[in-house]
Amino acid sequence: MSWKILIVEDNEKNRILLRDLLKHFGYEVVEAVNGAEGIELAKEHLPALIMMDIQMPVMDGFTALKTIRNTAGIGDIKVIALTSFAMSGDRENILDAGFDDYIAKPVDTRKLPEIIRRHLGKTDTRHDEETAANGG
Ligand code: MN
Repeated sequence: MSWKILIVEDNEKNRILLRDLLKHFGYEVVEAVNGAEGIELAKEHLPALIMMDIQMPVMDGFTALKTIRNTAGIGDIKVIALTSFAMSGDRENILDAGFDDYIAKPVDTRKLPEIIRRHLGKTDTRHDEETAANGG
């Protein structure tokens, strides 16, 4: 089992880019297209990390984060905001809202792996350990 990451993003191009990149780095990926679906998939899959767009139909990222933080079982999951907002103060608003970090779009594909590893707390040792425990 590798780390599972949930992408919550309504823009299909961005979602596919992120999904392909994360899969390339060996992560298991689950995808949702709005905040409400993201909450349901977070409960179902208990991902190690959520990457959450801000502007989405049905339910935006701020509302989804607030619900996740107040929901038993998923409240402690790391959530990184994905946003194209570029004005000063946005980063503070996002961190004040309770996001663990912020990644500006377009995503810098060279920096993304390091940011993810930082929030997962370590490199993929869990993958190695479980692989070893299962006899390789
Ligand atoms: Mn969006």
